[in-house]
Amino acid sequence: MNAIINDIEVIKAKTTKINEVDFDNLKFGHVFSDHMLECNFKNGKWEIPKVVPYQSISLDPSSKIFHYGQSVFEGMKAYKDANDDVYLFRPLDNCKRLNISSKRMAIPELPENYFMNGLTTLLKVDSDWIPKSEGSSLYIRPFVFASGNGFHASPADEYKFIIACAPSGSYFSGKVKVLIEEKYSRSANGGVGFAKAGGNYAGQFYPTQLAIDKGYQQVIWTDDNTHEYIEEAGAMNIFVRINDTLITGPTSDRILDGITRKSIIEIAKAEGIPVEVRKITVTEVVAAAKEGTLKEMFGAGTAAVISPIAGFGYKDADYDLPELENTYASSLKKRITDIQTNKAEDPFGWRVKVE
Ligand SMILES: *Cc1c(COP(=O)(O)O)cnc(C)c1O
Repeated sequence: MNAIINDIEVIKAKTTKINEVDFDNLKFGHVFSDHMLECNFKNGKWEIPKVVPYQSISLDPSSKIFHYGQSVFEGMKAYKDANDDVYLFRPLDNCKRLNISSKRMAIPELPENYFMNGLTTLLKVDSDWIPKSEGSSLYIRPFVFASGNGFHASPADEYKFIIACAPSGSYFSGKVKVLIEEKYSRSANGGVGFAKAGGNYAGQFYPTQLAIDKGYQQVIWTDDNTHEYIEEAGAMNIFVRINDTLITGPTSDRILDGITRKSIIEIAKAEGIPVEVRKITVTEVVAAAKEGTLKEMFGAGTAAVISPIAGFGYKDADYDLPELENTYASSLKKRITDIQTNKAEDPFGWRVKVE
């Protein structure tokens, strides 16, 4: 049965897969909800998006996504509270960032209402797929890629915008050991590091595998020019706590403007934690680790929210971080997830109810 919700046509799936899903044992991003949002760019404009059954996509072998990698994406979550109300966290920021990423990759920008109305309509249709148990959420993956054809190395003339959703359990992976990178770079000045472009991830996999082979789980990216500044933790922003001060690097061409990062900065300031947004040198982190003033390091991003770091390797030496009772990582994670899941007041106005 088809319907129109928020001006968006909904083509319902004939059957549901929801009864086949074990919601108590969800891995991250492995099962997908019954529907997806689909929107095509053709003849110079974005067509009106539709909610359709989740399905495979058929593409011509000459589609430019395969050859020239024009693809950008977002990651966000929907939460359901005890009353079955559904919330998003700063969703317009994801929409705006998708367009910032698109612009850099010569992909046409989407009208914001297509993203926002499309997303809320999809969430209404698939609301049964939003898990309620502690730590779980519906992970939402909006993405845009070049579906237009031809081997000519130029921007495509057709694109697809899709939003797919995956119910996901808590992402807690345990503390990670990280390797401070001295050779490879994730991003460069004038490059595309600030964009959530698929190729940025492809370029990270090989150096990350080399780090895994050495016994680490993740790479700490340093600046491409000198490798003297700490910039990001895998695909997350990084925070360092020296004594009681929380430090994170400034966003740039190379450091992505994470929504978790900027929310943590504001929450920490509101809690009276001293926060510095400035360049962090590898030298000062190593010195602080030796002196015992390096209290915490953690990654920040939508999927894991906050991912604590147990220790790091640098120039063939390993440094362990202390096991603290009360960490900024755990108190800030609780604060932000309580706001996201409507367990606490939201003085910042970040939480958006889906209606
Ligand atoms: C997505 C991403 C982040 C985190 O951004 P959030 O908006 O907090 O999810 C940080 N760094 C990189 C490189 C990313 O791709």
